Amino acid sequence: MTFTVGDRHDPALLAEAARLVAEVPNTRLAGRVGELVVDNARWRGVECVNLIAAEAPTSPVVRALLATEAGTRASGGHIGALSRCFPGMRYLDQLEALCVALLADLFDAEFADQRLMGGMAGCLVAFTVLARPGEHVMSLPLCAGGDSSGHLDGPAGVRGLTISAIPFDPVELTVDLDEFGRRARARRPAVVSLNQTTALFALPVREMKRIIEPWGGRLYFDGAHQAGLIAGGQYPNPLAEGADILTGSGGKTFSGPQSGMIMWNDELLSEPIVSAIFPVLTGSHQLNRVAALALAACELREFGTGYMAAVVRNARALAAALHDRGFTVIGAHRGYTDTHQVLVDVRAHGGGVVVSQTLERANIMVNKMLLPAAADVARPVSGGIRLGTTEVTRLGMGPAEMTVLAEFIARVVLAGDDPDAVAGRVREFRAAFQTLGFCFPAIGQLALTVPRQERE
Ligand SMILES: *Cc1c(COP(=O)(O)O)cnc(C)c1O
Repeated sequence: MTFTVGDRHDPALLAEAARLVAEVPNTRLAGRVGELVVDNARWRGVECVNLIAAEAPTSPVVRALLATEAGTRASGGHIGALSRCFPGMRYLDQLEALCVALLADLFDAEFADQRLMGGMAGCLVAFTVLARPGEHVMSLPLCAGGDSSGHLDGPAGVRGLTISAIPFDPVELTVDLDEFGRRARARRPAVVSLNQTTALFALPVREMKRIIEPWGGRLYFDGAHQAGLIAGGQYPNPLAEGADILTGSGGKTFSGPQSGMIMWNDELLSEPIVSAIFPVLTGSHQLNRVAALALAACELREFGTGYMAAVVRNARALAAALHDRGFTVIGAHRGYTDTHQVLVDVRAHGGGVVVSQTLERANIMVNKMLLPAAADVARPVSGGIRLGTTEVTRLGMGPAEMTVLAEFIARVVLAGDDPDAVAGRVREFRAAFQTLGFCFPAIGQLALTVPRQERE
């Protein structure tokens, strides 16, 4: 058997898997599937300190919902008996409507949709609805924390849009509004897309929208990372500042299932958005995911303010502790960060790839990241690492523990301690933090807490 899946996957890993499939009986292959999941859960879920800013741990209730029967039902179509492809949706229609209402409420939006598989699908919807092929979009370049979502290799490119860079001030870490105004007035983009994967500070949504309004330019805020922060009141709500569409990821700060979400206020956008989702990006979407997303939204309504405030407080504490130990932390003059993220310049220590791989050996997960640079400068080498505090915060760590984490990182990266030796100490430290906070209790108990008349 030969695989031809392009050159992106690791050919050695694919070859080894193909060998197993050819040689090993099915029961052992099934066992291997389970074993890999269990091994990962022990390592990443119990032993490691996960500082990947794109991740968050889901509550036990959210995880339980992901394994429910709802995930076996064909959901094709829109909410309501007359809009579905298949019957039998009496309860699941109500569940989906509840998810929509929860998302709209959390983001103070008129409208929301729950069906997207991921934030990236939301980007494709936004670019489909807000611009026609051949039209122009201005988006944040990679060196401004931008994401593929706004570039030629992502949804904007697939939609056939032409793209130019939003000018970004690499020192102030925000959009250069004067230069943006000049370039936007010259190009008259149909869409301005704010899509940061490295997001340390709020962006000037209101000011940018005001600049593009004269020609009906639309502002799209890709809040994949910020969704939980926005819901928890720790990041300005882009919709309130004039964004036309806000999308988010369920699995980043939102701390729910990996999922997408899209919110908007203009009723004229409703038909195009809903039709771009079904039957284009979804056929039958995952109702177990929708249930989990609704539950995560409930958790954020209940605990979001305290949870997200603690996340930001920990990010600032971690940044300061890294700075104190001699690291070059980006944004020091602005207090390092207003989000869950910390960005560190590690060019002097081998760069982002080397440092993140060394820290992985020490059971500390961070990811390589480009450093801020002037918007038009191509800089393909990751000189930095990005750290996020969502998971460690939900596990109960506070500023004191951020100091311990900074010390582990300094021992490995600055002092050159053997990462394999540090791994054991990280495991011991992590052992004391195994229970998630900001969660509802188990699902059985939860049902009892809902008064009967409210369930019917
Ligand atoms: C992570 C990310 C996405 C993709 O979201 P998924 O939920 O992983 O599909 C899109 N845009 C930005 C800016 C991101 O950081």
